[in-house]
Amino acid sequence: MEFIDLKTQQKRIQKQVQEKINTVLNHGQYIMGPEVFELEERLAKYTGAKHCITNANGTDALMLALMAINIKPGDEVITTPFSFFATSEVISFFGAVPVFVDIDRETYNIDANLIEEKITKKTKAILPVSLYGQCADYDVIEEIAAKYGIVTIEDAAQSFGATYKNRKSCNLTKISCTSFFPSKPLGCYGDGGACFTNDDKIAEKIKILRTHGQAKRYYHTEIGMNARLDTLQAAILLAKMDIFDDEIQLRHEIGARYTKLIKDIAPTQKILTENTSAYAQYTIEVDNRESVINKMKEQGIPTAVHYPIPLHLQPVYAGQYKAGSYPKSEEAASRVVSLPMHPYLDEATQDKVVAAVKESLK
Ligand SMILES: *Cc1c(COP(=O)(O)O)cnc(C)c1O
Repeated sequence: MEFIDLKTQQKRIQKQVQEKINTVLNHGQYIMGPEVFELEERLAKYTGAKHCITNANGTDALMLALMAINIKPGDEVITTPFSFFATSEVISFFGAVPVFVDIDRETYNIDANLIEEKITKKTKAILPVSLYGQCADYDVIEEIAAKYGIVTIEDAAQSFGATYKNRKSCNLTKISCTSFFPSKPLGCYGDGGACFTNDDKIAEKIKILRTHGQAKRYYHTEIGMNARLDTLQAAILLAKMDIFDDEIQLRHEIGARYTKLIKDIAPTQKILTENTSAYAQYTIEVDNRESVINKMKEQGIPTAVHYPIPLHLQPVYAGQYKAGSYPKSEEAASRVVSLPMHPYLDEATQDKVVAAVKESLK
């Protein structure tokens, strides 16, 4: 059994992917070829955002978003301590300070009601994560940001395809950043990512920053990066976009079925009625995680932990944050375990996973 089965999807779209790759091989525009621009238009339309600027990966997308708002050393960025490391890594990379706000215990997303008290004169941005594929409470977050004139950036690496109050993830904040890492809801066959915004000036700046700060050829107006998406990856993503709505629907059905079968056995991430999740992960909580993981393994069921150490307790931040300062994140990090989840998980396999969870909890 696969934790995330990419092979079944590959079989389904093999012909289309091959055709798209051949087109790229024939025209030979490997950097910023026509597929990149076609994909950007398609992704913008999908999310409803005015601009999509594709990037080399999701981490670069976050870096470019912060560069676009002129992040400086000493600036503060409010974020969640319960995420993949890239979320705070990009903040620290610029010498800015991640200011953590603890999570809501049921959704695992940043507790929007605790954000305002952390705002200071140095706060430059709020960078929430839409964890496991479910959006954070962006209406509340946007309202706080507007009140203080702060920029919002959605880390939508796990939530492309999700909705919040019938609006798509990647079109809920000033700038949004997603990842096309192969195992994300929309993944390519390598690294990839994208920024989204409705702001013309920010879009223009991100475009310049992603190509060495180059406003026109060999004319550099910014210190930028080399953070472009490969044309081949864009071509692959175009083929995947043709089946993406269907895959999201399958994820909804599988997620709902898991919840029905598991909710009386173990706590699961609560999906609020105003949201639909992209189910990047299906995550439950258990008391005795090490033992559960081992028993699942003995039954042939792969699991993963997203994430075992909250960001403020990562060794690189030693001395900067105290253990116990974000107790909900710390508790969640010690209890969560993710189950196999992908659009091609059939009912028999799902039943096997659920039976194994039951057995492992005995
Ligand atoms: C995957 C991920 C990223 C980084 O994306 P890459 O494409 O791997 O660089 C950032 N934030 C979160 C929450 C992620 O899950």
